[in-house]
Amino acid sequence: MDCRKVGGLIYTVRKEKKMTQSELAHLLNISDKTISKWERGLGCPDVSLLGELSNVLGVNIEQILLGNLDPNEQDKGNMVNVKFYVCQTCDNVMTSTGAAGLSCCGRTLEPLLPKPDNADHHITVLELEDDYFVTMAHEMSKDHYISFAAYCSYDRMMIIKLYPEQPAEVRFPKLSAGKLYAYCNQHGLWEYEQKELGSTFTPSEFVFSSYNTPHK
Ligand SMILES: [Zn+2]
Ligand SMILES: [Zn+2]
Repeated sequence: MDCRKVGGLIYTVRKEKKMTQSELAHLLNISDKTISKWERGLGCPDVSLLGELSNVLGVNIEQILLGNLDPNEQDKGNMVNVKFYVCQTCDNVMTSTGAAGLSCCGRTLEPLLPKPDNADHHITVLELEDDYFVTMAHEMSKDHYISFAAYCSYDRMMIIKLYPEQPAEVRFPKLSAGKLYAYCNQHGLWEYEQKELGSTFTPSEFVFSSYNTPHK
């Protein structure tokens, strides 16, 4: 732990929360001298206090230890770069338009990375008036099915939840150029990109990564 960095973080977040040193000290049941010492980098919080400090400041313990808040770059709000997170325990689906530290059912979630298109995980998009009719060539059995499909453009996003025994098809109103996603409960996420409105959706370039495989 770099006490100066940790102290700097505590100071910054305390100020953001408009808390005085003694208010923070009171919440942690310690003396305000201790807070002052931390903030001046003259000592680090005891490990036994990290849990409570994390609660009070609303900052992850890991970030407190790093003494760094790592803000997202501006313009990370662009929905076209949305990241999906799925909890393998309860199937909770979460999205984020920037980097985020998310957890569910006691586990840290990693963003899903799209995979290369294959014969069993492939979509067909038909234009039907103002909609895209998306058909996924995929089984919909209880154990192996497409559990959601999503369509995102720079300013909006739609997620449609699918259930086993339903047909593997969805209908999205056309947005400006965007990306289509299909998520298989066993094999992960597929992403298709459209360069401009009306052009065809093609599988996105993908990057293989160690956290690409759902941990099941
Ligand atoms: Zn969960
Ligand atoms: Zn599959």
